[in-house]
Amino acid sequence: MDIELARAWVRGIDAAVERERERLGELDAAVGDGDHGENLRRGFSSAVEAVEAMDPDSVGAVLTKTGTTLVSRVGGASGPLYGSAFRAAGKRLAAERVEPEDVGAALSAALEEVRRLGGAQTGDKTMVDALAPAVDAFLKAVDSGGGLSEAARAAADAAEEGARATEPLQARKGRASYLGERSIGHLDPGAVSTALVLRALAEAAA
Ligand code: ADP
Ligand code: MG
Ligand code: MG
Repeated sequence: MDIELARAWVRGIDAAVERERERLGELDAAVGDGDHGENLRRGFSSAVEAVEAMDPDSVGAVLTKTGTTLVSRVGGASGPLYGSAFRAAGKRLAAERVEPEDVGAALSAALEEVRRLGGAQTGDKTMVDALAPAVDAFLKAVDSGGGLSEAARAAADAAEEGARATEPLQARKGRASYLGERSIGHLDPGAVSTALVLRALAEAAA
C-alpha cells in the first residue's frame, strides 16, 4: 500500500457512504436514532477534503488524518470509534509504502482500539462483529502468501458475512442495547458500515 492507495481508500469509503447513506440511516432508525448514515457522510466527506489538502509523508499520515477528522466531525458512538481505529492503524504505517503484513498489523491495532474503547466483544451486535472476522481473514490470507488485494477481498467478504450475522443477535452495547430483545431481527448499522469500509479497501487495492 502506498500513499495514493490510502487516499483512494478514503475516497472509496466516502463514495460508498454517500451511496448507502439512506440505508444506513434506516438501519439505525430501527435500533437507534437514525443518524448513522449522516454521521459517516459528514465524517468521510471532511476526511476526503483533509487528506486531499495535505502533503502526507507516509501511508499512516493519511489514515491518522482521517481518524482525527472523524473524531472531530462525527458525534455519537461511531465517530470516536472509527476515528480512534483509523488513528491506531495510522500509527503502525510510518512509511511511504507498506507491505500487506504491515496493513494486517494496522488492522489488528484498529480492532484492539475499538474493543478497548467500546468494550464490545464479538456477538454484542456492534461493528466488532464485522471487523473481528475481517481482521482474521486478512491475516490468514497474508499468512498463506496472499497480496494486499487478495487479503482485502477476503476481509471484505468476512466483514459482510459478519454484518449479516448480526441480524438475529440482541444488542449488548451502544444505543441499540436500550431496546433489549427488540433489537433482535435487525442488522447492526455499524457492522454494515464496517463492511463498506473493508469493501472500499478491496476495491482500491484490486
Ligand atoms: P450513535 O449510536 O451514537 O447515534 P452511530 O449511529 O453513528 O452513533 O453509530 C452506531 C453504531 O456504533 C452501532 O451500530 C455500533 O456498530 C457502533 N457502536 C456503538 N456502541 C459501540 C461500542 N460500545 N462498541 C463498538 N461499537 C459500538
Ligand atoms: Mg445513531
Ligand atoms: Mg446519534
